[in-house]
Amino acid sequence: MNHTKLSELQSLIKRVSEKSGFYQGKFQKEGILPEDIKTQEDFQKIPFTTKEELRQAYPLGLQAVCDEKVVRVHSSSGTTGIPVIIPYTAQDILDWAKMMKRCYSFAGVTSKDRVQITPGYGLWTAGIGFQAGAEAIGAMALPMGPGNTEKQIQMMVDLKTTVLTATSSYALLLAEEVNRRGIRDQISLHIGIFGSERWGEKMRSRISSELGIEIFDIYGLTEVYGPGISIDCQYHNGLHYWDDYLYFEIINPETGENLPEGEYGELVITTLYKEAAPLIRFRTRDLTRLLPGQCPCGSPFPRHDIIRGRSDDMVKVKGVNIFPAQIDEFLKEVKGASSEYQMIIDHENGRDTVKLRVESDPGTERAYLEASLSKRFKTRIGIQVEVEMVEIGGLPRSEKKTMRILDKRVSAL
Ligand code: ZN
Repeated sequence: MNHTKLSELQSLIKRVSEKSGFYQGKFQKEGILPEDIKTQEDFQKIPFTTKEELRQAYPLGLQAVCDEKVVRVHSSSGTTGIPVIIPYTAQDILDWAKMMKRCYSFAGVTSKDRVQITPGYGLWTAGIGFQAGAEAIGAMALPMGPGNTEKQIQMMVDLKTTVLTATSSYALLLAEEVNRRGIRDQISLHIGIFGSERWGEKMRSRISSELGIEIFDIYGLTEVYGPGISIDCQYHNGLHYWDDYLYFEIINPETGENLPEGEYGELVITTLYKEAAPLIRFRTRDLTRLLPGQCPCGSPFPRHDIIRGRSDDMVKVKGVNIFPAQIDEFLKEVKGASSEYQMIIDHENGRDTVKLRVESDPGTERAYLEASLSKRFKTRIGIQVEVEMVEIGGLPRSEKKTMRILDKRVSAL
């Protein structure tokens, strides 16, 4: 961390301890004084902020400015019933639009483009975030919102939409519809900006070829402005994030320790300038890693990898953290192995054992694949596994990818 970043974090701590009731209470409980934060290590000792705490602050416990300064609220949908309400000042809204504008320009969008916005509006941040950025770059925004595929296609054709913003699943649905109607030559799309869901490479290339577009992956979360805090560039090797507004850390989700560049862990975000609802060391639950080095595009903005899943999905075996997406990626590289697998973790004779069952393509040499997979697993993921190849259809199918990891140790304890 450079000197400027540290002093930015120090003034943030000072500001929240003066203005945020939420952090005043938190700091008091933990005995944190702004003047104690002198180094990066001191900062890393500040306790995390969790989504649960934000929920407990419902409705406006996070607000760190007077009511007169709040111009809008958004809310994240809570699966547990209690939503998180995030207030914004006029400056917060401007800053967010500026970040969104950057995202569009990284994707090559200009004032000549016409941007069809299909994510939801309302309390949700997605629709309005995409719209503010499109307007900031001078493009023509089509604020469609979700659903009504008939109308989406009509507008896409008649208004000659060039940029589609959507969730990947809705983009796939639209792509299939365009294909089904045979109207590919009537659409003018060339860029797709899709976000938030985890999606496979196969789905991505299908949408890309069916619509004839280049796809950009955008990331964001309501607690931290909304969509648009990072996006990939034309090289598609990681997402550039805006480190002039946000401070990113990667931690070991189990121990909370900071991890070095290049190592996978949970993304933790601190907002440097957010006024109405500043966040310090917010645990996103999203798994990724920071990418070292400079991107060939020459941008000074650092990069993180695509989101690999949720930290809740992770298992720890023999001191190594493993999560489903890592295995998906590993199997993709092995010829003869299908993407269907089951990982069984057990505890026998005082140690953890891992068995990886993988469906193999017909006509492959099983014994050879078993040995080669086991060797590669050790190199790539770092632990010894016993591999068993089974025939296609030999493993149970499940909607939920996380069900593919069976941790029998839990019941053994
Ligand atoms: Zn780049």
